[in-house]
Amino acid sequence: MVHLCTNPDCNLPIHHKGKHSFIYKKAWEALFRTDDINKIQKAGYCTPRGGAKGGYQNHVNRNSKVIIPYEKLSEVTLDNYKDGYVIRFFPSQYFSEKHIVKEEFINDPSIVVGSNAFVLYRTYEDFESLPPLPDWQIRSILKYDKKTKTHCIPSNDRRGDIIDRGHYLLRISNSGTNKKQNLFEGPAQGIFAPEYADANTNFLCQAVLAWLIIKTENSPYKEDDFEHLKAILEKHHLLHSPHYENNYILHNGKTTCPLCQRVIMHKELSELISFDDEEGLTNSTEQAGSTRSTKVNLFHMVPLCYSSLENIPTQVAWGHATCNTRLGQRQCFSYHSLLQTDLTIEIHNGQERRFLGYANAEQNFIRSQNGDVWIRISKGDPSPK
Ligand SMILES: [Zn+2]
Ligand SMILES: [Zn+2]
Repeated sequence: MVHLCTNPDCNLPIHHKGKHSFIYKKAWEALFRTDDINKIQKAGYCTPRGGAKGGYQNHVNRNSKVIIPYEKLSEVTLDNYKDGYVIRFFPSQYFSEKHIVKEEFINDPSIVVGSNAFVLYRTYEDFESLPPLPDWQIRSILKYDKKTKTHCIPSNDRRGDIIDRGHYLLRISNSGTNKKQNLFEGPAQGIFAPEYADANTNFLCQAVLAWLIIKTENSPYKEDDFEHLKAILEKHHLLHSPHYENNYILHNGKTTCPLCQRVIMHKELSELISFDDEEGLTNSTEQAGSTRSTKVNLFHMVPLCYSSLENIPTQVAWGHATCNTRLGQRQCFSYHSLLQTDLTIEIHNGQERRFLGYANAEQNFIRSQNGDVWIRISKGDPSPK
């Protein structure tokens, strides 16, 4: 049995030397195979969405500066983003006409292009009709210089002690008909905000996912070899939490896909999806890149969004890539949670009534007792014809 440091923000062994630390990945990395270490590492990264065209960074840790699209600003809680944020304007959002900034931004100290906001140019039309102000500069990154004790070293890398400068970003692609070149200037500005998690939350999510790898079917690992990991999970009330079984993240102590409730095989974490399965993934974000997906991926019980942070330890699981795609941007309800809604669904066939299952309040997700799932994929038009 491993005893941990009594500091609530430290996950090192008791009487450890040196500084306290919340993050201690050796708890699983010491015994995990490379494939599994990489799988956990990747789960701590933002997945590519919108990508370079939107000025987004990809394949970096979730505890990074985020981009808040101006149109989402009223939805978000800016204090959530402990690693900073920057607001993205499109030219038409910021300018009323050529070189005229919209009235509402002139005397608003909370949004300043060049400081906590930038303008993103995506088309030649905008670049010509609503161009950058004459004294504006392209966005840039400056790294801290120990000699001069100022941020003065130009860089393309957001890591380390950096500051952002400049006012606008160019991500203009040649639309094909004209002979103009693509304009791609200024570094990526941050990550997709719904993917954000602070460093400690990200670590706990990874610790949970490591635990769930240990508990897959045919896992090469023994739970008893991971006493330190167990102690960390116990300290944060994540070892015996009832949510695992209630939400089918685990079933009878085995890792399961929360949507289809099938047991996850250890090898499925690294096996590439077959071309047959891939057909169902055409619209999935996982497939946005050129690489093929693995059969089993990080699965969020609650879809990631702007209004709240949902990449949290009690809502992460391993699930099939195909199940992830079928679920889309919907919450994954468990049978347990639907039981509490009192919305029973029956099928009537003449005189015969048959109990089908339970639905969520919005009635777009139904589960039957034996694990079958129905998800509404489109919504009818309620207006009379
Ligand atoms: Zn400590
Ligand atoms: Zn599944």
